[in-house]
Amino acid sequence: MAAIVRSRLFIFLMFALWMGVFLMPALPLFAAETLVVYSARNEQLIKPVIDQYTKETGVEIQLLTDKEAALLVRLEAEGKNTPADLLITVDAGNLWQAVQQDVLLQVNSEILKSNVPLHLRDPRGRWVGLSIRARTIAYNTNRVKPSDLSTYEALGEPQWKKRLCLRTSKKVYNQSLIAMMMGQLGKEKTEQVVKSWVDNLATPVFSNDSQVLEAIAAGQCDVGIVNTYYYGRLLREKPDLPLALFWPNQAGRGVHVNISGAGVTKYSKHVKAATAFLEWLSSEEAQNLFADSNLEYPVNPKIKPAPEVAAWGDFKQDQTNLSKAGELQKEAIRLMDRMGYK
Ligand code: FE
Repeated sequence: MAAIVRSRLFIFLMFALWMGVFLMPALPLFAAETLVVYSARNEQLIKPVIDQYTKETGVEIQLLTDKEAALLVRLEAEGKNTPADLLITVDAGNLWQAVQQDVLLQVNSEILKSNVPLHLRDPRGRWVGLSIRARTIAYNTNRVKPSDLSTYEALGEPQWKKRLCLRTSKKVYNQSLIAMMMGQLGKEKTEQVVKSWVDNLATPVFSNDSQVLEAIAAGQCDVGIVNTYYYGRLLREKPDLPLALFWPNQAGRGVHVNISGAGVTKYSKHVKAATAFLEWLSSEEAQNLFADSNLEYPVNPKIKPAPEVAAWGDFKQDQTNLSKAGELQKEAIRLMDRMGYK
């Protein structure tokens, strides 16, 4: 009896081996390569894209999700021994920080260059934008007419006295906004703008964009500055809120945009595979999947945003290279501090 079981097992094993040899190239199970991604983005936003890539290529992707700062500390501490092949995070200010800590590799990819506009990637190829979020003006539709609005700077005018809500200056989103403004308007003019905003605040600063939107909707203030996807999320939940987005500076430099993005790590052992994954993320196929999951805009100009996002209207975006947000980050933080923007 035992002999029969053994011989059946033997035949089964031989069959399995034979199948394995013949089917190896087609089955993800036998994928040669595994990529490790350190991600500061919510797992739920990344997972669908990763699963699709594995399905198509057989490349397995391990995701380690943590806070931005923790991931950077980890990458630095691990040094040459890091298992990470890619870093995914939000805001050019954060990606620039990663460059300062020397954890990203310079990648020269013609595909990335052609899929991602120049202002949304590092000119030296160490990080690349994968989706766009606009940081724009939101207003209460019962209390403000769009014709009352024009520019970020104009939110400091006397008509907005005690009518403005802002998120804290401690958040990188606002540091990037102000750094980019400094790059355009210079230090003195930006100081005046920030000071005038602080003078117009209706409430103490909030710790996140959703609170800013809720405060505007509740009439605690009438205008504020937020990232577009927070508006999208809130409106999905509560479609009747008296809120709308306004695109400022359309006659000038355009709306401040930022990115979620990624870079290949300096000590990746799978640079080719990591670069191929980045290239795929910028492709027409992956772009919608990546941008739509968080109600963002694709970076690849060949792709249209999701209908829900497109409904907010077209706008001209600031075309200044986002590396400026990093270069001037420290100065922007100091400027906001001096002007009393908490
Ligand atoms: Fe956010």
